[in-house]
Amino acid sequence: MQLTFDADVEAFRAEFVAFLDRHLPDEDEGFERPRSCSHVPEWARRWQRLLFDNGWLLPGNPPEFGGRNASLLQQYVHLEELSRRRIYPSFNPQGIGIIAASLLTFGTPEQKLRWAIPILRAEITASLGMSEPGAGSDLASLKTRALLQGDHFVVNGQKVWTSGAHDADVVLTFVRTDPKAPKHKGISVLLIPTDTPGVVRRPFASVCGYDDVDFNEVFFTDVHVPAENLVGKLNEGWRVANGSLGHERTMLWTDYANLLQQLTVDFSPSGALERDRYATLVMDAQALRLLGSSALARAARGEEDVPAQSVLKLLGSEALQRGAEDTLNAAGANGLVHPAITSSFAPLNLDSHYGSRFDRYARSFAATIAGGTSEIQRNIIAERILGLPRN
Ligand SMILES: Cc1cc2nc3c(=O)[nH]c(=O)nc-3n(C[C@H](O)[C@H](O)[C@H](O)COP(=O)(O)OP(=O)(O)OC[C@H]3O[C@@H](n4cnc5c(N)ncnc54)[C@H](O)[C@@H]3O)c2cc1C
Repeated sequence: MQLTFDADVEAFRAEFVAFLDRHLPDEDEGFERPRSCSHVPEWARRWQRLLFDNGWLLPGNPPEFGGRNASLLQQYVHLEELSRRRIYPSFNPQGIGIIAASLLTFGTPEQKLRWAIPILRAEITASLGMSEPGAGSDLASLKTRALLQGDHFVVNGQKVWTSGAHDADVVLTFVRTDPKAPKHKGISVLLIPTDTPGVVRRPFASVCGYDDVDFNEVFFTDVHVPAENLVGKLNEGWRVANGSLGHERTMLWTDYANLLQQLTVDFSPSGALERDRYATLVMDAQALRLLGSSALARAARGEEDVPAQSVLKLLGSEALQRGAEDTLNAAGANGLVHPAITSSFAPLNLDSHYGSRFDRYARSFAATIAGGTSEIQRNIIAERILGLPRN
């Protein structure tokens, strides 16, 4: 089966490919590496700004927010070209994909100017403060308190797993503003600059990730936050949360599909068992691409399709984990070797920063946790697609 796009979508792709060919940084030495997902070295800031200024950062946005009002299918081919090359448009992915996107949907005109545009233009970086020690999958149990006192909130509490917070300028922080309301109804969202007195960030290491550290605990003690930093309406933070997570899951499958494709290239099966696993990997990659394409077609027709995102996330992330393990096993001791990346866009390619098969295997575990665990995706599928009762 050959899936094709209309001529206008292919013309859009050709224009973007020509832009990439013309502008990709071509040196592969002397570039400072990002040390976390909120640390954006100067060369990467220039790259992100170039994309913003030319309408190629988030093409679905209007020009003033780094886009060119592209259609959904045009946005898809833009993503396809980026992930095919493993090129990152931004080294602060949460900043542009979740925080700026949430501000564009829920923020005031002033917040868009003061925060969203600087994040999109890589003038500042942002991280996401949702999870707490007792509130991960069940985010609505969050306990960090914010008390409105006149023209400011006073925030007390703790976040955890806050990726890149130690390098970020601001944290989009989910707080409880009405402790008496049902748990989904008393949540609000605040932009908290990380240099505000009372904010303490404690980074900690994990087995996967950057050369340095990425995760943080973030503590808030009597932190004063101007009331104008409230994003969306007071006590209506759950709407923002759903919007933010929606942004996180949208089209994640494109990245998984390309990663799976790369794993198939990297897999040299020898025995019968390995050939069987290789075949599974190829079929998973193909199934994900076809399911993703059909979900994309439905979305292009304007049909809301949250359950399909869950199916794609579950299938993609679990196939990725299996594939990363199988290619590691097939490689034996070579799995520890860091392959040289020789492409002309090496500085933009995160694989060039930590790309051994073992590193890839270790990182693959994050896929089934971040953005909603596999069990949570299964719950959504059971309830919203299969119509099974909640337990
Ligand atoms: C790489 C990575 C980056 C992250 N970055 C951020 C970030 O920047 N900001 C942020 O706020 N958070 C971040 N997180 C945290 C992430 O959102 C949480 O880890 C995730 O929501 C799960 O929450 P938890 O770790 O508290 O696990 P829990 O919710 O405690 O879950 C533990 C286990 O119980 C299962 N479980 C829980 N509830 C149910 C249920 N109802 N039914 C069936 N099984 C269930 C889960 O699937 C899981 O296996 C990140 C996580 C990772 C891995």
